Amino acid sequence: MLARLFRLHGLLVASHPWEVIVGTLALTVCLVSMNSLAGSSQMCSWNECPKVEEKVHSSDITILTVTRCMAIVYIYFQFKNLRQLGSKYILGIAGLFTVFSSFVFSTVVIHFFGKELTGLNEALPFFLLLIDLSKACALAKFALSSNSQEEVRENISQGMAILGPTFTLDALVECLVIGVGTMSGVPQLEIMCCFGCMSVLANYFVFMTFFPACVSLVLELSRESREGRPIWQLSHFARVLAEEEDNKPNPVTQRVKIIMSLGLALVHAHTRLAAESPDQSPDQSRAMDESAAKRLNSGGVVWPLTLSSMDLEQVITLGLALLLAVKYVLFEQTETESSLSLKTPIITSSPTQKPRVAGDCCRREPLPPKFHKKAHGFLATSSSVSDCKPSREADAAAGEKEVTQAPAAPSENSAPPSCSGSEPRTLEECVAILSDPQRGARFLSDAEVMNLVTSRNILNYKLEAVMETPERGVAIRRALLSPKLPVTAALSCLPYKDYDYTKVMGTCCENVIGYMPVPVGVAGPLLLDDKQFYVPMATTEGCLVASTNRGCRALSLSSGCRSRILADSMTRGPVVRLPSACRAAEVKVWLETLEGFSLIKEVFDKSSRFARLDKLLVGLAGRSLYIRFQSQTGDAMGMNMLSKGTELALRRLQEQFPDMEVLSLSGNYCTDKKSAAINWVLGRGKSTVCEATIPAKVVREVLKSSSAALVELNINKNLVGSAMAGSIGGFNAHAANIVAAIYIACGQDPAQTIGSSNCITQMEAAGPDGEDLYISCTMPSIELGTVGGGTNLPPQQACLRMLGVQGTSSNLPGENARQLARVVCATVLAGELSLMAALAAGHLVKSHMILNRSKTNLTEMPGLSSESAA
Ligand code: NAP
Repeated sequence: MLARLFRLHGLLVASHPWEVIVGTLALTVCLVSMNSLAGSSQMCSWNECPKVEEKVHSSDITILTVTRCMAIVYIYFQFKNLRQLGSKYILGIAGLFTVFSSFVFSTVVIHFFGKELTGLNEALPFFLLLIDLSKACALAKFALSSNSQEEVRENISQGMAILGPTFTLDALVECLVIGVGTMSGVPQLEIMCCFGCMSVLANYFVFMTFFPACVSLVLELSRESREGRPIWQLSHFARVLAEEEDNKPNPVTQRVKIIMSLGLALVHAHTRLAAESPDQSPDQSRAMDESAAKRLNSGGVVWPLTLSSMDLEQVITLGLALLLAVKYVLFEQTETESSLSLKTPIITSSPTQKPRVAGDCCRREPLPPKFHKKAHGFLATSSSVSDCKPSREADAAAGEKEVTQAPAAPSENSAPPSCSGSEPRTLEECVAILSDPQRGARFLSDAEVMNLVTSRNILNYKLEAVMETPERGVAIRRALLSPKLPVTAALSCLPYKDYDYTKVMGTCCENVIGYMPVPVGVAGPLLLDDKQFYVPMATTEGCLVASTNRGCRALSLSSGCRSRILADSMTRGPVVRLPSACRAAEVKVWLETLEGFSLIKEVFDKSSRFARLDKLLVGLAGRSLYIRFQSQTGDAMGMNMLSKGTELALRRLQEQFPDMEVLSLSGNYCTDKKSAAINWVLGRGKSTVCEATIPAKVVREVLKSSSAALVELNINKNLVGSAMAGSIGGFNAHAANIVAAIYIACGQDPAQTIGSSNCITQMEAAGPDGEDLYISCTMPSIELGTVGGGTNLPPQQACLRMLGVQGTSSNLPGENARQLARVVCATVLAGELSLMAALAAGHLVKSHMILNRSKTNLTEMPGLSSESAA
């Protein structure tokens, strides 16, 4: 009911921003012009307090100065924290809120002081110390997570429905608590508390009216954008609705606040009655109790306490000011960081810091947003757990042993806060909550979840699936792991937030503790088969992208690169054993007959829509048989596909030869992720060739070399040098560099760089006078795909999209993967051109010293010469 009321109010304000803004401004201006109350009874200004003159004067100046400084520092920290959100909109909106609230507050103070600006000068620092930007930003986040203006209105009203009741109650409680101070009888404390109450009311008034109207208006005015999306829309806020929905105000806390307010209201009433002495007329006493400001004017002491000494007053005033500063600068800063910073890793309290309130840090019940965020700044995603497939148990079980015997309290910087302030419930209670479908993990504190993991009631590797969000599971795993690492805060720079783990779980990685950001560069345009490509390369090797880019430029200034796919089939080579070598030979002969092959193919092809068995290569060693299954795999790299088909085919073979024993699905005859001549000779995945002719001018001006020098170097290095080293497939300068960088960017299996970088680079003098350069790269075993594995992850898909090859090809299955193989081969050719030219010209070390040397490392190791470090 209450929420509905606030929702309607939010909708009204967001839908009629101009009216609300003008109305609010008019009301404020009216308040200034009325000034009726202030007329004769001006409030006692701080410095002019008649009680103690000289002594008070200097110390009050100190108090006010300290308060002003603290206010400035506090506001500075609030804005600094907001900057971490990386949104100019949030900063602007917070600024707007501060300026307008200050304006309203100033208006109220001027009104009470009868237009005396000295009073405002004293009041403003207290206002600034009480302003809470996190509330305004929480509402702004709702608006910023919208995709259209309609959504802005809808989200503001939804935000108001969720935040409004809590903020109203908070404002009431704050007013009543601070209001007690206005009856203390200590004049300066009374003034401060009076300012405090005005601050809270001004903030609340602005929050409910002017602020949502302004947010709605500002976002409407800045709506136009490229790609039809609003320019303010922030993807990292996109889940705020669900997140806040999940954390609606805790009814228990709300009830406590209401009871507290009632109690405080009684205290106020009682005080007012007690202050009414028999010798005072009812009118006088009522006038005194009208407001703290009026009571101050009387200069009399109402509260029966004997706190009359000036020294004591100052101590109380300064103490209160310090308390406020400590609260905001230390605690509120941490809160703002943990609750608002969605972009940077969260730094929560260290183990030595005491938790603020026990109830704040434990997830016993869904807490209101404010409390929830204090405790769980690390919980930022609302990804559905049901989307999350369980991890592969057998593999994960091994890893899980490493992380289960952890102490209950986390100590990592980015870990969830410990719950040492409140005792975790018993294991039995926690298990009951966990298995209750109505409650589940979200009703457990982090400490309790960690206890459940330690006692193996929750398996560590299943944390993501058991928690209400996978991200919480990851955060708790980090917290369990951190204390066991040689450096406690070792994980603090490994990010884990704002990542879609649902795409990872059960597919790409187990026992996840974060993700590794790797810089991605672009080389290009690469002119290949008359088309231009911009090639993404993820690497930390300085020079690599720059050098490849130079090769691409040389190709673009020539007639580009031409390519062909020579073969396309992935392999899996199991090992089986027969009772004797003769029997093994019989199986080999059978498999090589048309009938044998057809029977196996029939079974194999049924395993997938794309796998089609092309060939069986059978090798024999004693009584062991090595069968290399060779199959097309569509756009997938195909290892899982091949494994599935091979397993079925072997079962069929066993039916034919019941005495056959399968030793392993992989007998290294494939050969996957190991250097092997079989891939070099027979090919694996996509066998590709690329060629180009570079005119002499380009060789000279772009590559700074000559055709003759490059041809000679190629013979001596890539051919003879590699032969001398006994290389298999390594007849190139650095094919693996380019393959690895593209593989990491495009979600390929990086371990397959081993076979995929098999390459022979050849160079010849060309053209009428032999000054042009002919270059070719032949790569027989490029193992890659555009569907499956890491290609399902959004950033990797973005890189595939750059090349126009993401996902299934619309024409012929496998075209996307084959196109990617051509791009890899052509980029390798560009890389070969550039590196060979650099080596021929003797530029390699120089360019690496410029582009590949960290200045930090050099300054950290002054004794190390560049030669010894190279
Ligand atoms: P996969 O994701 O396991 O299989 C591809 C899936 O995509 C299949 O279900 C396939 O359908 C479907 N698909 C949809 N459109 C397709 C298209 N146009 N072309 C091909 N398939 C299409 O991928 P995979 O390439 O076989 O395996 C890659 C994963 O295997 C990587 O994660 C890699 O790291 C891992 N890997 C495994 C091994 C191993 O020994 N098992 C070794 C190395 C790497 P169908 O169901 O009809 O086939």
